[in-house]
Amino acid sequence: MNAAGAWLVELRRLVLLSAVALVVGWLVGAPWLVLALALLALLARWLYQLQRLLSWLADTSVEPPEAPGIWGVIYDRLYQVQRAAQGRQAQLQSRLDYLQGSLSAMHDGAVMVTASGAIEWSNTAAERLLGLRYPADRGQALLNLVRLPEFHRYFLAAAFDSPLQVVLKGEHVQYLQFTVTSFGGGDRLVFVRDVTKEAKLEQMRRDFVGNVSHELRTPLTVIKGYLETILANADQLEQRFHRPLQQMQQQAARMETLLKDLLWLSRIESVRTQPRREQVNIGALLQEMEDELQTSHPGRKLAVQLETAEKVAGDYRELHSAVSNLVLNAFKYSKDDTVVTVRWRREGEHLLLSVQDRGIGIDSVHLPRVTERFYRVDDSRSSATGGTGLGLAIVKHVAAAHRAELRIESTPGVGSTFTLVFPG
Ligand code: ADP
Repeated sequence: MNAAGAWLVELRRLVLLSAVALVVGWLVGAPWLVLALALLALLARWLYQLQRLLSWLADTSVEPPEAPGIWGVIYDRLYQVQRAAQGRQAQLQSRLDYLQGSLSAMHDGAVMVTASGAIEWSNTAAERLLGLRYPADRGQALLNLVRLPEFHRYFLAAAFDSPLQVVLKGEHVQYLQFTVTSFGGGDRLVFVRDVTKEAKLEQMRRDFVGNVSHELRTPLTVIKGYLETILANADQLEQRFHRPLQQMQQQAARMETLLKDLLWLSRIESVRTQPRREQVNIGALLQEMEDELQTSHPGRKLAVQLETAEKVAGDYRELHSAVSNLVLNAFKYSKDDTVVTVRWRREGEHLLLSVQDRGIGIDSVHLPRVTERFYRVDDSRSSATGGTGLGLAIVKHVAAAHRAELRIESTPGVGSTFTLVFPG
């Protein structure tokens, strides 16, 4: 029976009951009394049904009791709604189990942390990597159990754009990489990976490049020395040897610059994890660089605009090399009569060090890759300018070591602006 039908039946029953009560009442000479008694009896019946309904609602795991008329319809409806809710809950639970199952099986550690910082759930890999036991540690503060100062700083700063790598120095050195994602109302999902193998490989690559560059320097110095001596006595040589020997000298000089850049790059990379405490006076740095460039590039115009006197926590030599690389590039890729502008300024929460030229610019397709080692927009133009292809890679590493971002804006034919954006 549908709800409207049941309702009509109930109404009809009420009318019938009232009519019969009035007739019987009229026969016995007290119609209103009998009507009142009949209605009271009906009310008692409804109260009884209400009480049955309440006791069933207290435990809906059993089937609903049989009931006549509208009460039966109410039970049916409630039972259907409850079954549908149970179905949805079961579906949700099975999805949750599936998700937790896949997270549990993951090789990486996964920890769900509530907005207040308490552990909600963690998988078995998190036990292996961080010593978190689930469910024993549920509800405990994550930062009380993971005692890594770098992780504390990272987690509390809540700037999760890039992952955090932590070195654990025990019997065996272990590298852990943390990635945190915020979700819901401030809950966080922490992933932790053992990246020891990758970090060691990276270290080997760095050492290899560093060692090879270092080893190549001695033979190169000898070759350069001999070439210099030979060319100093060029008048005793046959004319046809002059040009090849000069070219050999040029290439040897290029190779020397390349080795110097490679060594410098591997040095910057290897000290990257150390904190930098020195306060670098950028104004003084730019002044020194201006003086140097007046000697090395006397014909070029450099405009230095100091709009703030603020200092930056960092390494003077590294910052000097980054800015010189940018200015030398600006010189290389712009005409001699154009000005290169270096600006040091504050913009909101950031400190900006920018180098702007009115040169040939870079097509936007190359922009994402120009900071890669040995990447060149145009090989012929770079070798003509004597570039090593490492300049911007050095700048990018120096920026990363100073928690700065390297922004590049460039328009072909108009010019380029390279900006180091430091956190203020
Ligand atoms: P390179 O030693 O070849 O200059 P870099 O790493 O310093 O190597 O730069 C990579 C490439 O980016 C260069 O080959 C050049 O094509 C381009 N580039 C860098 N700076 C500028 C600039 N200021 N203007 C135009 N192109 C530039």
